[in-house]
Order: sequence, then structure tokens, then C-alpha cells
Amino acid sequence: MSGIPFFGCARAGDFEQAHDRMIAEQLIPRGIEDTRVLAAMRKVRRHEYVPKAVRDRAYDDGPLPIGHGQTISQPYIVAVMTQVLEPKDNDKVLEIGTGSGYQAAVLAEIVDQVYTIEIVGPLADEARAHLKKQGYTNITVRHGDGYRGWPEHAPFDKIIVTAAPPEVPPRLVEQLKVGGRMVLPVGEGYQQLIVLTKTDQGVVTETLFPVRFVPMVPGP
Ligand code: SAH
Repeated sequence: MSGIPFFGCARAGDFEQAHDRMIAEQLIPRGIEDTRVLAAMRKVRRHEYVPKAVRDRAYDDGPLPIGHGQTISQPYIVAVMTQVLEPKDNDKVLEIGTGSGYQAAVLAEIVDQVYTIEIVGPLADEARAHLKKQGYTNITVRHGDGYRGWPEHAPFDKIIVTAAPPEVPPRLVEQLKVGGRMVLPVGEGYQQLIVLTKTDQGVVTETLFPVRFVPMVPGP
């Protein structure tokens, strides 16, 4: 993926400048044009969601380690997946793979309710702490297996999966509303980013472009 490398600076006031450059250099030139998505990406401070050791790289053009062998996605990927989801004010969204909580925060700036599931307990706890510190009251984090979805809150208007399953998890399709959209990376190794729409007649899938996510691990 092309882009201008940017090396952030750890001095406090410089986060703001690095954040602005991320929008101007990584998102807008690559086709992020939905004003709600751009506003959410401007509002959510990525440096609040990454470990201190990598905070100076918070606005770099790539994923970053968040511990437990996991990563926070590249800002562009967060933005493009959010844009493809076509989020609306009244939507109830399910996210699989909370990680740092960053993607959940971006969604929560746009939609009514976000439910997010993380399989690694300590990451779920850390994400909850980040989101509480930022004042979100419309995000619920659960420690559990995303393959099961969250039947108590289904059906969802939108579902976003930020770890890669080998194929589309059937229970997530079941928990999507008719008219709803789901975006997810599918496959092993390199994956394809897929957008799936549920209609009265069945499911329509469109393949977008190749991506690389951590695998969605099977639950216990
Ligand atoms: N959306 C995150 C990045 C996700 S990285 C962010 O904004 O930071 C993918 C996450 O999916 C990892 O934290 C990983 O532990 C989690 N994961 C992997 N398999 C899972 C499963 N079966 N259910 C729920 N979470 C899973």
C-alpha cells in the first residue's frame, strides 16, 4: 500500500500535528471521503489506545503492537472499514476483536450503540479502561468468543470483524438484520476484505482488496 511514511514525535503538543497529518496524508488521498468517518477519525486520539512504549508512533501509517501478540490496525484500514460499513446514527453495531478499543471508539462517534467482543481477557480489560477514560457510554465490551456473536443483543444493523476467520462465520450472518452490512477479512495468511449485505433473497458478497489481519482464533 502506498503512502508517505511519517515518524511521529513524542512531545505532548506534537500529537495534534501528527494526528492532522494522518488525516491529510493517509486518509483523504486514499479515498476516505465520508464526512462522518473523517470527523470520527479526527476526534478519536489513537495515542490514547496504544501502549506507552509505542505512543510516539501512534499516528504512523501502519499497525502497532498492543501486547498479547495482537495489534491495533493501521489508521487507513480502520477508516476504510468504517466507511464501507456505511454507519448511520441509529445503528446498533457488533464488533469482533476489540483489541485496543480504537475501532470501537471510532464507530461510537457515529452510531448509537457498539457491542464489542474480545477473546483475550486482559485486552478486554485494557480496552474497557481506555474507553471509560475517554468517556464513552455507548460501548459495551465483552470478554468472549466472537464466533458466537452476541445473541442477547442481536440482530445488528452492522457487523465489523477485525480479526480474520478462514470463512464467514455463520452465526454472525444469522445475527445480522435483513438490510444490514458486515465487513470482514476472510482467509488464511493474506486475506480478502469482504463486504456482505443481507437481503430478503439471501446474502450478497463483494470482495474489496487484500488485507492482512491477525487470525480469528477458535474459542474454547
Ligand atoms: N479492532 C482492534 C484491533 C483488532 S486486532 C483495535 O481497534 O485495536 C484483532 C483482535 O481480535 C485481537 O485483539 C484478538 O485477540 C481478537 N480476536 C481473535 N480471535 C477472536 C475471537 N474468536 N473472538 C473475539 N476476538 C478475537
